Amino acid sequence: QPINMIILGMAGSGKTTLLQRLRAHVYQNKIATYIINLDPAVAKLPYTANIDIRDTVNYKEVMKQYGLGPNGAIVTSLNLFSTKFDKVLEIVEKRAPQLEYIIMDTPGQIEVFTWSASGSIITELMASSFPTVLVYVIDTPRTIDPTTFMSNMLYACSIMYKSKLPMVVAFNKVDVTSHHFAEQWMSDFDSLQDALTGDQTYMSSLTRSMSLVLDEFYSTLKTVGVSAVDGTGISEFFEVVDKASEDYFKYYKTELETNK
Ligand code: GDP
Ligand code: MG
Repeated sequence: QPINMIILGMAGSGKTTLLQRLRAHVYQNKIATYIINLDPAVAKLPYTANIDIRDTVNYKEVMKQYGLGPNGAIVTSLNLFSTKFDKVLEIVEKRAPQLEYIIMDTPGQIEVFTWSASGSIITELMASSFPTVLVYVIDTPRTIDPTTFMSNMLYACSIMYKSKLPMVVAFNKVDVTSHHFAEQWMSDFDSLQDALTGDQTYMSSLTRSMSLVLDEFYSTLKTVGVSAVDGTGISEFFEVVDKASEDYFKYYKTELETNK
């Protein structure tokens, strides 16, 4: 059974570029992979998708027809697509015996997928058929500020708790900035505390009390540094995803069984 990855992350974190890099890797190494694009608003995909939401819904038409702005049209397009997702699942399940991975690209604006009914439906349908791992892509150079870093990790945390799926954090763009600072902040909370200069009173007591929550979260997380542009860390990325998929069988799958 193939491992399904759902690529999530803030707009501009590099989801699409990473997918392009992952695709090049699986192609080179002859790893059978199925690619699904769920971003209706992307103008041009730098990779070939096996299933593309844009073949089913025309985002520009949705905007016109329903009198919507860009964000509303993305949500509506995803809603329209999710109503036909059982068909998509059928197609993927037919191919599944030959596949090692399924990779899903999501819309630029992260909340469109993580906080919409259609995003949940698609995630749950996929996760009930395939071992599923969430890949949370972080723009490393833009996360060197400790408060930004923490907001980003809290966001990842909220997504993981909402979906209850195993998560891999991919620190992207390590060709620009190494992710070592992030690994240090995650393993040693005092180092993050030290980095948080400025507002000593409010922020430091808040971050201290949050450290317990985050410690618990970090212990369930797997991380990897990658560069979608130059290919650094891509083999390691696949190893980490494989490891994370074991957690799916340990925790998520058993939860599904007990809820039956
Ligand atoms: P998305 O909105 O998450 O799909 O992000 P994109 O894949 O469109 O990338 C946003 C921008 O970041 C583009 O200009 C990419 O060229 C750039 N980018 C993506 N990955 C990397 C990387 O690993 N290193 C560098 N230096 N730039 C990157
Ligand atoms: Mg994109």
